Amino acid sequence: MRAMVWFRRDLRVADNRALSAAAHDADQLVAVYFVTPAQWKSHNDAPAKISFWLKNVQCLKIELQRLNIPLLIFEVADFSLVPSIIEEKCRQLNCTGLYFNQEYEVNEAARDGSVIALLKNAEITCKTFHDRILIEPGAVLTGQGKPYTVFTPFRNNWAKKIVETDTSVLPVPKPAEKISDLECCGHEILNDYIEPFSEDFWPVGEKAAQKRLAEFCGQKLAAYSQTRDLPALDGTSRLSGYLTAGVLSPRQCFSALNQANNASDKLPDFTSSAGVWLNELIWRDFYHHVMVAFPRVGKGYPFQLATERISWLYDKKHLLAWQNGLTGYPIVDAAMRQLKQTGWMHNRLRMVAAMFLSKHLLHDWRFGERWFMQNLVDGELASNNGGWQWSASTGTDAAPYFRVFNPFSQSKKFDKDGVFIRQYCPELENIPAKALHDPMLLQAEVKKRGLGYPAPLVEHAFARNRAIEAFRK
Ligand SMILES: Cc1cc2nc3c(=O)[nH]c(=O)nc-3n(C[C@H](O)[C@H](O)[C@H](O)COP(=O)(O)OP(=O)(O)OC[C@H]3O[C@@H](n4cnc5c(N)ncnc54)[C@H](O)[C@@H]3O)c2cc1C
Repeated sequence: MRAMVWFRRDLRVADNRALSAAAHDADQLVAVYFVTPAQWKSHNDAPAKISFWLKNVQCLKIELQRLNIPLLIFEVADFSLVPSIIEEKCRQLNCTGLYFNQEYEVNEAARDGSVIALLKNAEITCKTFHDRILIEPGAVLTGQGKPYTVFTPFRNNWAKKIVETDTSVLPVPKPAEKISDLECCGHEILNDYIEPFSEDFWPVGEKAAQKRLAEFCGQKLAAYSQTRDLPALDGTSRLSGYLTAGVLSPRQCFSALNQANNASDKLPDFTSSAGVWLNELIWRDFYHHVMVAFPRVGKGYPFQLATERISWLYDKKHLLAWQNGLTGYPIVDAAMRQLKQTGWMHNRLRMVAAMFLSKHLLHDWRFGERWFMQNLVDGELASNNGGWQWSASTGTDAAPYFRVFNPFSQSKKFDKDGVFIRQYCPELENIPAKALHDPMLLQAEVKKRGLGYPAPLVEHAFARNRAIEAFRK
């Protein structure tokens, strides 16, 4: 038997449910990947993320060649032509089965539905797998059989369900039987879309991802609960880009975590460092479950529909200042510049920057959600949308609307010596740390030294009251 494996955001050969099943069922395998520029554009996928994906496709090709699996790459504008091409290629190449891992976003799920329907008519077996998060969407429900809308009870039930879930890490399959008359094709297409991006920050390939996971669990996990909120330290795993592209699986993370946690068969205590990290992986599951249960969040609507009535402001200059890291709030500016330079932003700062746009500037959170997607290497609809709606107080588990982080207090707490701020705002290099966390002192220093750093766009207390009033109304 010959089967086709369709790679999407699961760019790895280790612990890949669809690939392993295909390798088990068939003697010969063919792999396909689609380059879809118009779809990327409509999804606001960042050029850096696309480049990271495509570089990983190049690595995948080499790994697949070792397994005697040729990778065929096709370019289509968007998803609409994918079903017919898959059907045609399956027929041409005599593939009797198609294997792929599920994607849960609205457009992706619709595309997959069309593929399944078309192949059914063509009598080609289609096997799909749950692979992207730890527990499948819809499998963690309340006692009334409803989806959770608050994280902590979701997590408590998740912790019960994970014990009955297959989280085993599958090995790389054995090489398939070689197909003599079929070569890889379409690889030159990738180069058309690969742009320079911060490869030092994001080394590509499964081995790089696994190395980062091993280093994190071996060297940093133990202190994670103390270091995770300090952006000047490299205290978090920085695995998000790999998880988003599927270069690493969440089960590989869960397994490494359990091994680091002395391989006990119990979940770590959620107050321990290992437990705090697991908590983050569960947030990722949670937001995917929310996205599937409430598809409106993936279609541009807030989870809390009443928040559609908020009178958001719009000031192009303010939006541009926020995007370019020129708000006059050093921690926000450093964060926004980190995003532009590395394609990543520290989690604490994502919350600060998102709250600043939605509360201080009172701009619709969807502007920020889009900007993050257009710049993040780890941009993932479920987590990005969840994080934005949390910060803007419009989401499931949202911060109460009257909670408005003061960016100066946040930097004083989490970047006391200003190390992170100075790294990304070099114009503030010689300003004493105390002034970085105090708007009056900062303005005095900037004036005294004749620095070109802007005054704050809005004053904190005024902006806070304005936001609370807008939400209260
Ligand atoms: C406004 C906003 C936007 C965000 N956008 C994204 C996004 O597009 N893609 C994305 O992967 N994460 C997003 N997050 C969540 C989080 O900020 C990143 O996952 C994290 O900073 C990635 O760094 P890390 O890999 O070092 O995380 P670690 O702290 O090492 O956590 C391990 C993994 O858990 C997951 N994770 C961690 N925190 C969260 C969280 N709050 N929600 C969901 N998953 C989480 C990630 O996959 C991460 O790689 C967003 C958060 C906010 C507040």
